[in-house]
Amino acid sequence: LGRRITCAIRKMNNVTIIDEKSLNECLNEITRALLQSDVSFPLVKNMQTNIKNIVNLQDLAAGHNKRKIIEQAIFSELCQMLDPGKSVFTPKKTKPSVVMFVGLQGAGKTTTCTKYAYHHQKKGFKPALVCADTFRAGAFDQLKQNATKAKIPFYGSYTESDPVKIAVEGVDRFKKENCDLIIVDTSGRHKQEASLFEEMRQVAEATKPDLVIFVMDSSIGQAAFDQAQAFKQSVAVGAVIITKMDGHAKGGGALSAVAATKSPVIFIGTGEHMDEFDVFEAKTFVSRLLGKGDLSGLVDKLQAVVPKEQQTKLVEKLSQGGFTLRIMYDQFQSMSNLPLKELYSMLPGISADLMPKGHEQESRAKIKRYMTIMDSMTNEELDSSNPKVFSESRMMRIARGSGRVVSEVMEMLKEYKKLATTFGKVKGQNMSKALPPQML
Ligand code: GDP
Ligand code: MG
Repeated sequence: LGRRITCAIRKMNNVTIIDEKSLNECLNEITRALLQSDVSFPLVKNMQTNIKNIVNLQDLAAGHNKRKIIEQAIFSELCQMLDPGKSVFTPKKTKPSVVMFVGLQGAGKTTTCTKYAYHHQKKGFKPALVCADTFRAGAFDQLKQNATKAKIPFYGSYTESDPVKIAVEGVDRFKKENCDLIIVDTSGRHKQEASLFEEMRQVAEATKPDLVIFVMDSSIGQAAFDQAQAFKQSVAVGAVIITKMDGHAKGGGALSAVAATKSPVIFIGTGEHMDEFDVFEAKTFVSRLLGKGDLSGLVDKLQAVVPKEQQTKLVEKLSQGGFTLRIMYDQFQSMSNLPLKELYSMLPGISADLMPKGHEQESRAKIKRYMTIMDSMTNEELDSSNPKVFSESRMMRIARGSGRVVSEVMEMLKEYKKLATTFGKVKGQNMSKALPPQML
């Protein structure tokens, strides 16, 4: 979905004069892409009308940044689609809440239950986990392991086969123990089948959850709408969590899940570990969907690694128009504290070659190599905001000086150009929008 939308916008970018016809073509392309991702037709139709209303062609003809107006309209419409206009139940520490997780087997329920519990535990809640999955062999062990690691009380059984009975026992017990957030993990089976939905209905009826969270694997693509709808029809789904956002999927299915459940996405899962769990941010998500990379997320991460006193300097340097080699050098240096996977998965166009999955070690070595090469450059080269093309003989000298080969120098410069483009975008965007206030 992201690819097709980006493609449509790019096509638009190549058209110098934007008239009604090219706008329509662009919108049709996006409409087809959204429909093929099972986003409901009325929603897409709505989006199309809204964009046409926002984008006044006469304004466009007069104004200067036509592409930006259209891109922003698409952007804000997609954000709108992710907002069902309904607030979600949030647990309170003053009164025990029951939260039930539903979703197909493998979606990530058990993992996400623990992440959700852990997230709230860090905020001072007293969570507890109940394993009402009596279908999958080892389900209780898995939950037990996760819970033990996070020091969260748990309840389940190896022998009882009635999920409703366990769910009720668990919820009752933890209410008595004054837990304020009781989380019920359920079974998923491998297919959407009537008996599963009946089971969900019964567990919900017996435990009366304050919130039912539908967990969806971001990579299921086309199946998202039907799957979400099927769960919504048997239990009162009130929120969505999208998992495995660390993988290749951009998560277009989230639009469908929101449309089908009329509920907001509240968190995303970004890894197998307990703390790889982020509060959902529509803007960040849509940026990623559109292939722009996660700029605001990136800035947050930079904030975490760039010392406070250097942050303003960095922003200043960037806003002066220059992403210099030296800035890249400094960034590489600060990044040595950061799991690279995290940072690089956020930079558009880079992750694939600089940061292939499972090659973090090599990538770190590569970055170190780049830094060695930069050590052999002159201050002038490092500080130029528009480094001139390096001649072959100059590259050979740099390679020799750093004990590397010319192809590695070229590779480093190529990486620099990509990053410069990315940061150029930050600069091109309104700085105050792209960066959090504390960095300005
Ligand atoms: P369940 O059947 O719905 O309970 O799913 P599980 O919680 O057992 O998860 C299925 C698999 O997906 C496990 O191997 C998890 O480690 C993995 N998983 C869950 N969430 C994520 C995520 O956000 N990212 C990644 N990479 N893996 C995940
Ligand atoms: Mg499970």
